Amino acid sequence: MSFVFEPCNEVTATVVGTEDLFPIRRVFCVGRNYAAHAREMGHDPDREAPFFFMKPADAVVAAGNVPYPPQTQDLHHEIELVVAIKEGGKDISEETAMDHVYGYAVGIDLTRRDLQGEAKKLGRPWDWGKGFDNSGPMSPIVRLETCGHPGPNRKIWLSVNGEMRQEATLNELIWKLPEVISIISQSMVLKPGDLIFSGTPAGVAAVVKGDVLKGGVEGVGELEITLV
Ligand code: MN
Repeated sequence: MSFVFEPCNEVTATVVGTEDLFPIRRVFCVGRNYAAHAREMGHDPDREAPFFFMKPADAVVAAGNVPYPPQTQDLHHEIELVVAIKEGGKDISEETAMDHVYGYAVGIDLTRRDLQGEAKKLGRPWDWGKGFDNSGPMSPIVRLETCGHPGPNRKIWLSVNGEMRQEATLNELIWKLPEVISIISQSMVLKPGDLIFSGTPAGVAAVVKGDVLKGGVEGVGELEITLV
């Protein structure tokens, strides 16, 4: 038996300090997980259960040149802490959730805000606003043994052309990582290779071709992309 065409290569991320590659399975993203960002998007953060959307695995790309996507005049940056899952499970408890973590990375949830806004207004899916090609630039993954679980005082930040746009600490996360892992696993069986983009703090704004986006999470890593 053979394939009707050559299968695509496995989508992978590099791992800091090793030659090994992390095979990416799915990309879960948490919506409005920082209160100030929920407010800037016109929502009340106090009364909302967490919700999720997804990106295709191959939307995740390494740092460097990232193409400015078509069909938008309002591309936004969202800097996020990314959790890499090594061990799957369903109905994972909050108490054991962190045992499923392989490591962490820094990602940018690039968003075609105009398409997302239109989808919201019409009650349509977010995929075209969120899950387009190259919409998830991500740093190499840092193993848990190397970085530990990032504590609440760690900074998360993003600058555009050297000017700070997003700056917060992880204690501003509304739904903490054990809760997020547990909640996802109640709806979907988590699998090794799944990534979770955990949400973005306030300060999202438009970027244009030629802009240099640099972001990081203290103790995890940094990521720099140029929109081309
Ligand atoms: Mn996001």
